[in-house]
Amino acid sequence: MVSYAFQNHGKEIEDQVRAALDDEWLSQNRPFIDLLSAISQRDRAHMQGAIKRKLRRREGEGIEAVQRQLFDIAADVASFLEQLETLAPAKSSISTKHPDYHRMVEPTADRCIVSAAGKCTLGDDLTWAKDLLAISRSFRDFLSAVSECDAQDSLFLLRVREPIETLNSYLKKAPGPLLVYWQGSDRQFRFGRSPDPELHDLSTLVANWLSDYLTNYYPRIGFGVCAECGKLFSRERRDRTFCSKSCQNRVAYKRKRILESDALVQTNISADDACEIAMGLWMHHPRFGIGRVESVSCENTPMATLLKGTANRQDVRFRSMLSRRIRVEIRFLHGTRRFGFSDLFEGQKTEDQLPTFYRVKSEETLAEFL
Ligand SMILES: [Zn+2]
Repeated sequence: MVSYAFQNHGKEIEDQVRAALDDEWLSQNRPFIDLLSAISQRDRAHMQGAIKRKLRRREGEGIEAVQRQLFDIAADVASFLEQLETLAPAKSSISTKHPDYHRMVEPTADRCIVSAAGKCTLGDDLTWAKDLLAISRSFRDFLSAVSECDAQDSLFLLRVREPIETLNSYLKKAPGPLLVYWQGSDRQFRFGRSPDPELHDLSTLVANWLSDYLTNYYPRIGFGVCAECGKLFSRERRDRTFCSKSCQNRVAYKRKRILESDALVQTNISADDACEIAMGLWMHHPRFGIGRVESVSCENTPMATLLKGTANRQDVRFRSMLSRRIRVEIRFLHGTRRFGFSDLFEGQKTEDQLPTFYRVKSEETLAEFL
């Protein structure tokens, strides 16, 4: 009977078993996902605040704003850790100096996090929060690169390089977690990896966790970062942009309010004139919402420099050549994304899939509605 099932439905059975194992991994690793999610949500709220401040021309608070952001992240992580510790009263006392340190209770995700979080205190030195923010951003950048580009695309390599380098810089900081063992409920010995509180801090632990995820579970298990609230969610389809229907609706509602107000005036830019996309314009992207054009370049030279002082500026072929090599950086509420010409204008794009550009008419109204 069983062999009949395997012979005729082997693939289905394998898929089901794998799906069950993936679900188990997701639930066992929930504390890591929640931790990254909390950081990403706070980061997103700050990015939104920064854009609003910029519109209201209150930029003078640069360093202060960064410090406040770090403190907010540190406070969020500290309260997250506090909750975790009540659930998993830690093996934070494990010390590699103890001869039997490698024999312990199962190093579950929550125990590992708690035991690596010794330095995460709300003191003057918030470097640990800065490190966690850097890791969370690099994971978000990685996820947006893989969800938006094909692996063959040259932009993909460029966009994946930085996050991988960031993760590697944390992996290089400390050797891998320790090999430990424990007795399972069936009295058999089990083996696993656990952080050493003397060597590993939370950022190296999270970097190790991410590298384990990418090595063993990607792309079977996919994650996305919600473009509205910044939450990390597991997803089946790589083009899902929002964690929930309510976040999707909120974005649509905001967009409608902004476009119906006097905040923005539409400006038409055709594909051949893409070189005219200028810093300070705003763009509406069908998936990511509204964002500000932060930089425009062509082969690493700012577009404005290429257009300035050249007699060719009005030459149709010259403009079209520049337009096709354009790289635009747009700052959305959830982060900055880079686009090439093909991302903006090519493919089977219908009218409503094309980006729309706007000039700001009322900064105050825009800041209010964002
Ligand atoms: Zn959301």
